Parts: sequence; structure tokens; C-alpha cells
Amino acid sequence: MAVKTISKSREVQIIDLIIIGAGPAGISTALHLLELDPSWQKRMLVLEKHTHPRPKLCGGGMTTFGLKILQELGIELPLPVSQARVVDIRLNYQNRTVHGRGSPVFLVYRRDELDALLAKEARQRGVTIYEEEAVQHIEVTNEGVLVETNKSCYLAQVVVGADGSKGIVRRKVAGEKKQSRTGRTLEIIYPASEDSALFIEEYAFIDFDPVQSALQGYAWVFPSRIRGKPFYNIGVYDSGFFKKKNKAYLPDILKGMAGSQNVNLQSCTVEGHPIHWFHPANRLSAPRLLLVGDAAGADPLLGEGIAPALGYGQVAAMTIRDAFNKRDFSFKDYRRRILFSPLGRYLLVRWYIAWWSYRLCHQNWFMHTLWSACMIASIILPKPKITETPYPGLKKEKEQIE
Ligand SMILES: Cc1cc2nc3c(=O)[nH]c(=O)nc-3n(C[C@H](O)[C@H](O)[C@H](O)COP(=O)(O)OP(=O)(O)OC[C@H]3O[C@@H](n4cnc5c(N)ncnc54)[C@H](O)[C@@H]3O)c2cc1C
Repeated sequence: MAVKTISKSREVQIIDLIIIGAGPAGISTALHLLELDPSWQKRMLVLEKHTHPRPKLCGGGMTTFGLKILQELGIELPLPVSQARVVDIRLNYQNRTVHGRGSPVFLVYRRDELDALLAKEARQRGVTIYEEEAVQHIEVTNEGVLVETNKSCYLAQVVVGADGSKGIVRRKVAGEKKQSRTGRTLEIIYPASEDSALFIEEYAFIDFDPVQSALQGYAWVFPSRIRGKPFYNIGVYDSGFFKKKNKAYLPDILKGMAGSQNVNLQSCTVEGHPIHWFHPANRLSAPRLLLVGDAAGADPLLGEGIAPALGYGQVAAMTIRDAFNKRDFSFKDYRRRILFSPLGRYLLVRWYIAWWSYRLCHQNWFMHTLWSACMIASIILPKPKITETPYPGLKKEKEQIE
């Protein structure tokens, strides 16, 4: 990296691209850039404030949308980390259960293991990741973006904010425009037995009954594995989609869900984390700055963010490559690229359903009509599936975007 003196006492390291955050969104952006052009090895840097494997509160469910992106990147499945398979997702409302089946519908990973594996893969392909380096301040200048960390100072042509729901880049991109599109979650992990129905029948349970207690979301139980051992992952998600509505009291909902699995909440550590979600009007970029993953917005309906994070990386990489080719770092077309990509369609559908569902969910007639529609959809829609060979569909759509 070249070094430049910008004032009497200040030296900065010069680089084309800095990605802040080595979660799925940041690593996906780096891996997709390398796929497009191996010269990015020397032109980009990923800064991560923790060291992998680092704890990350998450249900860990990755749908086939994300699994296919990993396969396209040449990452073979099954991943060599602990995982639980879900072939049947059971959506409950007032004892009416819709079964969404697939092979699988999603796989459940522990995020510390998954993210460490992806970071290792990126390193093996030549990506430079500096860990324990927290970005403290960024400033956009005519020459580039000044990035100050706890260890150093950089001048980058472009910065990607892959720093999650609480990241600093989003605040910079949003500017004066306050966006409070953030949901709340609570989660616990509790030891399970190998012969519990969740593991034998390979299902996950999603309960929408708490919408009657003002929840704009759901409570879940997923099967999970930590270093091979079975655990329940139990949690509650409140999108807070309509801010003016009453707020649900999440601990009571979590307690109810834990009780249904004979788990005593008092013996668990309850943890919470926000999820910043996608809205078509979210600001996704500013000159020299791009947002990916939770910083840009996860799915508002279910709070799904791992697969979207991988999808954002795909679109961001193409946008960055074209910006450097044209030496135009305004990123005016990034929103259009996102919205017209497979990821954009995925998120728009979820946003649209969330808008209607969380607006009308307190009305029984609406929920029962929705459940009937879901039952029909579960019968007629194709079942998600993963094959060992790379899935050609997304690649084709990727070429169309280009
Ligand atoms: C309780 C809970 C359950 C969830 N369950 C699911 C689920 O089952 N399935 C699903 O798909 N999604 C789930 N999600 C959402 C999912 O966790 C996120 O959408 C996903 O982690 C987004 O990935 P990301 O790379 O954008 O951000 P993150 O995974 O948050 O990664 C951001 C990275 O940036 C680093 N960072 C942050 N600030 C800085 C800084 N200043 N300097 C340097 N590094 C920085 C962080 O250390 C972190 O490594 C859940 C979320 C929660 C809270």
C-alpha cells in the first residue's frame, strides 16, 4: 500500500477499496470482486473490529437463495461446520399450520463458525483482512474517503459499509434523513436432545399467534448445532414495521415460546440485537459510499439477512467494478441495480407482504385469509432444493443485470 502525507503530522495509506466489516455481506463483496477480476486482491482491504470466530447473535438459518450464491462462488456444500437441516418449516396461526417443504428449506449454521469459514476462504483466495481494527470515523473528501481506525488511517477511493445494523457507514449515507427502519429481536440457545422431534423430523416452527399481542413479527424455534451437539434456538422478532402501533413486550412472548419447548427462561441468557430492514426508499449509497447487508437492509417480513447479505455482495461487486472502469464514484445507479436484481425482487416481495401483513395482522379475517393463501402457495409453488452442482439460474440473471 502506498503512503501519502496529507498534513504535517498525518500519513495515510492509499488503497482503492475498503470494506468495513467481515460478516457475510463484506466477505461476499470481496469474493465477488475477485471473481470479476483477480487484480482486486491487491486493491482492497477488509477491516473487521473483532477476530474470527467472533460471536454473532443470529438464528443462523440460511435459505437456498444464499446457499446457491455460495455454490456459485465455488464454495462446496455441505460446508465443513456444524449445521442442522430444516426440510419442513411450520408456520402456525391459531392452530392452523402451513408446511413449507424443501430439500432443504434452509440450513441452520452457528454464525461464529460460518463467518470464520467464509473469512478463511476469502483469505485463501488472497483477500487481505485486518482484524481487531475498528473503524472509528469516515470522511468523504474530493480525493477519496478518509477512514480512521484504532490502528491506522487510510484514504480509499470507495468504502463499502458491510458493518451491520449498527454500522457507522449507514449513518453517513443516511445523512440528515433519519431512518428508523429497525426491528428488535431476542434470542436464547438451550441444549436439546438428539431424539427431540425438531431434529428427527428436521423442522422449524414459526409462530404468528403473538401478532394478537401487538407483535409485528413472530416467535421461532429452530434446531441448531454447536460443535455437533443439538440445541434449541428460540427467539422472537418484532419488525416494528409500523412505528405508531403499540409495541409488543418481547420477553413475555419469548417466555411463552420457551415454555412450549419445556425450556425455563430463567436458566438461559437472553440476548437481543436490532435488525435494520430493507425498504425501497432506503438510501443505499452516497458518492464513494455503498451499503451492503444489514447496513442496506434485511428482509422486513422475517428478518432474514444472511442470504440477502450474500446477494448484496454480488450486486455491489459489479457496481464497484463498473464505477472504477468509468472513474465515476457517484453510485447513482446502485439502487436501480439492487431493485432489478434477483435480490431486489426477493426483498421487494418480502417488503410488500410485510406492509400488508403487519398492517392488518391484528384482524382475524385477514390472518385466516392469508393462511389459506399460504396453504395454496405451499402446494403449487416449486419446493426449494439444493443440488450438488452449481445452480445456473442466478448466474444467468447476473449476466442480464450486467
Ligand atoms: C437474533 C437474530 C436472529 C437472526 N436470525 C437470522 C436467521 O435465522 N437467518 C437469517 O438469514 N438472518 C438472521 N438474522 C439476521 C442476520 O444475522 C443478519 O442479517 C446478518 O448477520 C447480516 O450480515 P452482515 O454481514 O450485513 O452484518 P454482520 O453479520 O452484523 O457483520 C457486520 C460485521 O461488521 C463488523 N463491524 C461493525 N462495525 C465495525 C467497525 N466500525 N469497524 C470494523 N468492523 C465493524 C462487525 O464486527 C461484524 O463482523 C438474525 C438476526 C438477529 C439479531
